[in-house]
Amino acid sequence: MELIKLGNSTYYIKNVNNIGVYKVNDRDCYIIDSGNDADCGKKIIKLLNENNLNIIGIISTHSHADHIGGNKIISNRCNAKIYAKGIEKAIVNYPIIEPLMLYGSNPLLELQNKFLMAHPSNSKELEDIKGLEYLNLKGHSLDMIGVKTLDNVYFLADSLASHNSINKYHIFYLYDLEEYLKTLEYLKTLKGTFVLSHSEVTNDITSLIKENENKIQEIINIILNICKIPLTFEEILAKVFTHYNLVLNINQYVLVGSTIKAYLKYLKENNKLNYEFKDNKMLWYLM
Ligand SMILES: [Zn+2]
Repeated sequence: MELIKLGNSTYYIKNVNNIGVYKVNDRDCYIIDSGNDADCGKKIIKLLNENNLNIIGIISTHSHADHIGGNKIISNRCNAKIYAKGIEKAIVNYPIIEPLMLYGSNPLLELQNKFLMAHPSNSKELEDIKGLEYLNLKGHSLDMIGVKTLDNVYFLADSLASHNSINKYHIFYLYDLEEYLKTLEYLKTLKGTFVLSHSEVTNDITSLIKENENKIQEIINIILNICKIPLTFEEILAKVFTHYNLVLNINQYVLVGSTIKAYLKYLKENNKLNYEFKDNKMLWYLM
């Protein structure tokens, strides 16, 4: 972990999940997200203390476990307030909702793991903080936000999949494809320094936006091609995995499965796919 300066008041902690740091005076700062677990939270506190900074608040961009894992320990040890928006706040406070949503019912115990379910932390509704602006970055999760600082630094959370992730895993988690595509259009209008959670810091996200768009179009084409024959969701998921030579495990099953369902909804709303019930199976077919 390393604290890197990006502007007068803006820093970030370089990490597997980059953490934003916004100084409000010589002593106090807010952080943007808190890493994937308590251990990461401890390291953030230590690093900032070494730099004479005290954390007074955590802004959680969204409720995924790798962004809120340090919330509890940081809030306990630093007496920091935690802020999150609307329904994301609900999941930060009741993280069982995450595996519940992915599984569709009381989640299997093996889904109640640290990747899909953080420890609960007590967040409150997002508040205005001088020098910060919140951006609406819906699509990846229910109501993800980004944060812009007065130094023209944009913390964009998981609004773009990284180059490595696109090439290695092909399918990145999405909750709402329609909103995600709108977010990509919005990102094209921004100019500044960009900190994504899982990519290198850059001043130019144009090519990464294009890569994300291209991969989404590729997945849409694969699904449309697969559905030339009416198939169940399970069959579609299996064929997409086979296409990309990926191997299913329980986390991938719910994360990619849920993402494929987001694609199916998008394709239905755009009159490309429809479904019917036949022999007590729900079959998706090309319109
Ligand atoms: Zn996420």
